[in-house]
Amino acid sequence: MRAMVLNTAMLPLELERRSIPQPGPGELRLRVLACAVCRTDLHIVDGELPLPVLPIVPGHEIVGVVEALGAGVEGHRAGDRVGVPWLGHSCGCCAFCIEGHENLCDAPRFTGYHRDGGFASHVIAEAAFCLPLTLPETDAARIAPLLCAGPIGWRSLKAAGEGAHRLGLYGFGAAAHLVAQVATAQGREVYAFTRPGDHEAQAFARGLGARWAGGSDECAPEPLDAAIIFAPAGGLVPAALRAVRKGGRVVCGGIHMSDIPAFPYRWLWEERSVSSVANLTRADAREFLDFAQAHPLQVHVRTYPLRQANEALDDLRAGRIEGAAVLLP
Ligand SMILES: [Zn+2]
Ligand SMILES: [Zn+2]
Repeated sequence: MRAMVLNTAMLPLELERRSIPQPGPGELRLRVLACAVCRTDLHIVDGELPLPVLPIVPGHEIVGVVEALGAGVEGHRAGDRVGVPWLGHSCGCCAFCIEGHENLCDAPRFTGYHRDGGFASHVIAEAAFCLPLTLPETDAARIAPLLCAGPIGWRSLKAAGEGAHRLGLYGFGAAAHLVAQVATAQGREVYAFTRPGDHEAQAFARGLGARWAGGSDECAPEPLDAAIIFAPAGGLVPAALRAVRKGGRVVCGGIHMSDIPAFPYRWLWEERSVSSVANLTRADAREFLDFAQAHPLQVHVRTYPLRQANEALDDLRAGRIEGAAVLLP
């Protein structure tokens, strides 16, 4: 098998050939059809997150075909198409798992972080965390972003609240381009904030239903009910607080963000709140995939051959991608 491997943080991934692994009890071996590149992969490669395992194969938005089943696997068959998300394992017995918050598990194993992920031709995944894929869309590249960008947007949208009619989105990348369509389909108004001067991203947002699009240095034309921040820039937190109405919510959707600068308490006062979204439960992913089944989404992707994973990461880092970058083995 081939894999793009992170041996040292902040250095390019290296192409390696390895023998094809065998699935252990409860595991599946998949032949990877496509794997999208998430901003979390960039934070891993750039050493912005602590790295518990090196070398590691990144990638946690995997669409694959079941090739081999380990002992005791039920509910999957060879030839099935499944998705592998970020949450690759949760313990099932900590207080968070018991309460249904497996996204906050005390002993999780994340795909492409604790265990090798999908920047590869093959991957081993825990069967219980693989998601059946029955979408009308058949192009694996257009399904891959629905395994993290989509459900993280979905969970963030739930955190924004059902009353969030006027919704701000800061950072219009893979997650925002999907959640904008979900929010619009739900009858909400989307206000998209991009890097200042990024007129292409603003036009992209308007094309996907945004009522307004402008730079993150601009004021929203109306007070917002809630805002979701996908860009990893802490300076957007006070900006978003200033854009939301009394009682408005600001939700941070990323795993890493630069420091949030100090700001006057009065920007938070009047019952505004700031919260974060961490990881995903399997239920989030299933809910989102059910929504995508009923409301086909336009998934914009730029595909790269697996060996060009470093170019894809560079393009994501530089903000050159409309929608999601996807690797094809
Ligand atoms: Zn992700
Ligand atoms: Zn747990």
